[in-house]
Amino acid sequence: RRCLNRIRKTRHLNAYITVTEDLAMKQAQEAELRLTRGKPLGPLDGIPFSVKDNFCTENIETTCASHMLRGYFPPFSATVVQKLLDQGAVLVGKTNLDEFAMGSGSTDSVFGPVRNPWSYSVSYREQSREQDPDSDWVIAGGSSGGSAAAVASLSSFMALGSDTGGSTRNPGSLCGLVALKPTYGLLSRHGLIPLVNSMDVPGIMTRTVHDAATVLGVLGRDEKDSTTVESAYSPSSLPEEFDVRDICVGVPKEYHAPGMSAETLAQWGRVVALFERAGARVKEVSLPHTQHSIVCYHVLCCCEVASNMARFDGLQYGHRSKVDSSTEALYATTRHEGFNSVVRSRILAGNYFLLKQNYDRYFVKAQQIRRLITEDFRRVFQSGVDVLLTPTTLSDAARYSDFIQEDNRTRSAQEDIFTQPVNVAGLPAVTVPTALSSRGLPISLQLIGQSFQDMKLLTVANWME
Ligand code: GLN
Repeated sequence: RRCLNRIRKTRHLNAYITVTEDLAMKQAQEAELRLTRGKPLGPLDGIPFSVKDNFCTENIETTCASHMLRGYFPPFSATVVQKLLDQGAVLVGKTNLDEFAMGSGSTDSVFGPVRNPWSYSVSYREQSREQDPDSDWVIAGGSSGGSAAAVASLSSFMALGSDTGGSTRNPGSLCGLVALKPTYGLLSRHGLIPLVNSMDVPGIMTRTVHDAATVLGVLGRDEKDSTTVESAYSPSSLPEEFDVRDICVGVPKEYHAPGMSAETLAQWGRVVALFERAGARVKEVSLPHTQHSIVCYHVLCCCEVASNMARFDGLQYGHRSKVDSSTEALYATTRHEGFNSVVRSRILAGNYFLLKQNYDRYFVKAQQIRRLITEDFRRVFQSGVDVLLTPTTLSDAARYSDFIQEDNRTRSAQEDIFTQPVNVAGLPAVTVPTALSSRGLPISLQLIGQSFQDMKLLTVANWME
């Protein structure tokens, strides 16, 4: 009931697209009964959570924040959602995002932009240039900005996001949360409406590392997603004992990217020193192909988008245009009316890259660069490094009015410089808030781990928290 009240009180954040009040009350009552009998289903029984609106939820509208899917009520729930429900967790709502998870600001949604709850914090308002919080507020990051705003504003205890190039870590970082992108193949993508199948993973947002580990522990292998691994890899829980002197932290020199704020850089240096003082081994490492990651990601992303979006034809799901003079006209008009310009431009670019005469120059080349980026990480981890420590974003959250001024797509691409290589390589990464900037907004750092070493990664994150 308190979470539902918080949702009502924080409507101005625009974090939720759908609030599942009746269902939540019913689930909560059932959980309460189990808890009073001393028979909880597990550690998450009765815990309220929210889900990004690109995960299918049975008989609950699932829109991807797009006109295209308005009125789509899936006949099933995504595996990760179902697993949480089976554990007794209480679904309070579906959260806002950039249309089809394309973006880094949660500003490109048909339901309007998400506001970062920190815009209303005392620490930010004291520094603010304007008195009116309705004209001076900062973005929540994206594309899972609604999930981040929901957890940060205390209306959910945990939230699912999706992470294809940083979409869970970016908003998690700007909203001061712990946000985990698990290893590709650890969690099921069944029922997550795809952006880039070869990079998409469900992401977990919580307030603490411990909570993230608990949620990760109950999700896992799924027969319906053949890319998920056997249970031998499945994480269980954080170890009781951990000695930071046993680990080696790598600091990649290529992550000193142009555009990084002085405060983010200083914060990164401070935490590196913290590890050193505690006795961890710290060494500078090189990931030479980092600079090509953004271009590589965008070619692969557009190609997969071009293919994935083909299913939205106006016949099977959601929106259907009234123009039906021919089948072609129906397809074309439906897609023109249904998708925003970001989605349409990616479809167009992807189809261009995939033309017979362009295929080798773009798609094959990008696949080759993808391999080089993956090899960079492999070499570093083989040299004895346990985790890499990097910033998550270039700076703290931008003001909404500044963010939309610039060419949004360029900005969006630059923002992902630290997060995208991880998806290209399929590795696990977690972002942890470490300080407040002089503007009174969270600054976070990212830890990157080896494939399927998600619990080890969280163990180090837990030390850092
Ligand atoms: N910002 C990136 C994009 O627009 C990543 C999005 C994501 O992780 N879903 O594609």
